[in-house]
Amino acid sequence: VDLNPHQEEFHQAVREVLEDIIPYIEDKPEYEEAAILERMCEPDRIITFRVTWVDDNNKVNVNRAFRVQFNNSIGPYKGGLRFHPSVNLGILKFLGFEQSLKNALTTLPLGGAKGGSDFDPKGKSDAEIFRFCQSMMSELHRHIGEHTDIPAGDIGVGKREISYLFGQYKKLNNRFTGTITGKGVNFGGSLIRTEATGYGLVYFVTHMLDDLGRDLEGKEVLVSGSGNVAIYACEKLIDLGARIITLSDSDGTVHDKDGVDEEKLDFVKELKEVRRGRIREYAEEYGCEYYEGKKPWHIPCDIALPCATQNEITGKDAQNLLNSNVQLVAEGANMPCTDKATQLFREADIPYAPGKACNAGGVAVSGLEISQNALGIPWSAEEVNDRLFEIMKRIHEKCVEHGTGDNGKLDYVKGANIAGFKKVAEAMLDYGPI
Ligand code: NDP
Repeated sequence: VDLNPHQEEFHQAVREVLEDIIPYIEDKPEYEEAAILERMCEPDRIITFRVTWVDDNNKVNVNRAFRVQFNNSIGPYKGGLRFHPSVNLGILKFLGFEQSLKNALTTLPLGGAKGGSDFDPKGKSDAEIFRFCQSMMSELHRHIGEHTDIPAGDIGVGKREISYLFGQYKKLNNRFTGTITGKGVNFGGSLIRTEATGYGLVYFVTHMLDDLGRDLEGKEVLVSGSGNVAIYACEKLIDLGARIITLSDSDGTVHDKDGVDEEKLDFVKELKEVRRGRIREYAEEYGCEYYEGKKPWHIPCDIALPCATQNEITGKDAQNLLNSNVQLVAEGANMPCTDKATQLFREADIPYAPGKACNAGGVAVSGLEISQNALGIPWSAEEVNDRLFEIMKRIHEKCVEHGTGDNGKLDYVKGANIAGFKKVAEAMLDYGPI
């Protein structure tokens, strides 16, 4: 904490992991001798730079951008770029730290990184987004590469931003390589990458339910957010017969008691991906409840899938969900539960899966995109989807292997933390003290 003042989210992420890792390495002195924990909590490298861009009124704007290259022990740095006014070093360090463990869980050779800027894409024209991306890549390109560091999307960075960023990367380097993932399918992108995080989340949930002899049919699900992860989680949930009763954005929550169906989801895709509108328009279109300024967690449900942002479920929200008999919680977003909420879910007698396990589908398919780019051969949607399904199954098995206590109780958080740590730490031990 003293070494990293004012980085609360980073402290929170590290604390949660170390609570499981410290007891795990107690009888393994080689980890302490090699200072593995200290090394794992310190990023390999942090790059910070100015992004200057001109808006549509010819005003010169300045933003701050970062790339946190956290750990490349098991593969090149890999992790998304986030554009949001809240972005700061502490948030990107938490995301990069989590990403290192998450990427290890995918079983693919991917190190961990995260980057982004405090730039706010909301309300900006396409031309402004283009100029910002071009300016950002003019510096970022020096630090990335297909064998060095491979960025992708995250909050505020979708297909449009990735295309602008990759176009500029390609121009500056005069090379067409798989340096960024989430690219359009016409220029090296993988089929199913757009859907991967949401689909992967739902696949993971089906494995959790399988263990209990249950399935998704007829389950009432709260989904928060209405961005990439939320939309494609909904698509797969509808496929598997679940009833989604909420969606949200940073302005409020819609509560659709009849459930979001395919047609309504198409409306959300057009609203969010094309028109870039607000979720309240869904309530206006379909005549359902809209709670301005509220999150979904006061509404009774069977399953809660937070898919918006960090710390969106507080202790009070978690208690509300438990009081209304929620049966399962799985994190689509990164660290959406506060410390208190995490503690309440872990102590309760319900399955609760952390983001680093159940939202790993996005980075896993990014890994598959890198493989396809290296081979120069695109795979079919079916092939990518099958591999995604298998990867989520293997992550689930790893959680069960490392998270099942002597009393038979399965703690997904502990399982994911230990399995991810073990893989990265063993590689670091092999390298010696570098
Ligand atoms: P998007 O930008 O596509 O969507 C984010 C959604 O969350 C929007 O509906 C947004 O609303 C809402 N949101 C963002 N910030 C806040 C806030 N402070 N309060 C309330 N709502 C908020 O991002 P993604 O769907 O890609 O990412 C969502 C989460 O999933 C993040 O935690 C991300 O790190 C994680 N994730 C994403 C992956 C991916 O492949 N995209 C992979 C793994 C994890 P509004 O439009 O109003 O801002």
